[in-house]
This record gives sequence, structure tokens and C-alpha cells, in this order.
Amino acid sequence: MVGLYELENMQLAQQLIRARLRLSVIRALTDVSTLTLRQWWHDIHGVRPANGKLPETVLSFIKDADMAARISSFAVFYKRLNGTTIAPGWLLNTWMEYQRICGDIDINAGYFAVRDVRAHIVMLSRCDKCRAGYIYDTGNKYTDQCPFCQTKVF
Ligand SMILES: [Zn+2]
Repeated sequence: MVGLYELENMQLAQQLIRARLRLSVIRALTDVSTLTLRQWWHDIHGVRPANGKLPETVLSFIKDADMAARISSFAVFYKRLNGTTIAPGWLLNTWMEYQRICGDIDINAGYFAVRDVRAHIVMLSRCDKCRAGYIYDTGNKYTDQCPFCQTKVF
């Protein structure tokens, strides 16, 4: 018999597959087996899931100031709603709500932003000029200063 907790995780897993979160991340968040997830991905998207290596940090997703601003705002939004705990339902709901308000964002970028802020791999800093929160890291030219002051995205 499938327990209720397990059933809820299975439902979240299929919604996260629809959102195109990487399978190894879904596996870690929901405990649904890789074999099952791969089959569901194929059933839902009609293709096999990507097998490539996961990005090491959120910085891999930040290719310009616009992405730095979007991913930063997702990290701030998630933290305001959920604190630093990562749960599959919270990730999914925050991503859906963010998209409704702010537009498209790769859920993988959102996940890595939250994970890396939580693990202190990157810092959430506050801009002295515009007061926005943003992902600060000296390892990337788009994150070593406030991306909102560099762009007019928001
Ligand atoms: Zn600023």
C-alpha cells in the first residue's frame, strides 16, 4: 500500500517533472525512485530526460545581468515565503507564483539559488543604492555588484 506521505511526494514528483526540474534533484527531494521518475518523464515529455552532469552552483545559470536579477529575485522571494528550508511543495509553489508575477524562470536555476544561499556557497546581499536583495559572489562579473542597478528588468 502507498502511504499518504509517499503519495503526496509522488504527486509532487510528477508536477516537478512537468516543471522540468532535473531528475536527480526531484529524486533527492521526493525519494521517488530514479527508474520511476525516468519513466514518468518519458510519459510526460515524450523524450528521455537529460543525463548530463548537474551544474555545480547557481553561478552556472547567470550569464548576464538580467539572469542575475531574475535569479536573485527568486531567491529573495523564496526566502521571504519559506525561509531557508527546501521542500518540494514549497519549491513548486514558489516557482509557480514567481512565474505568475515576474515571468519565466528555469526552476533549476531557482532551486540552485535557494540551495546555494542556504549552503552559504553564495550570499544574499542588499544593495546600498536601491535596497534590493541580490546574489552576491565575486566569482562572476554579473554577481559582484547589484544586477538591478545594472538593468531595468524590474
Ligand atoms: Zn541596486
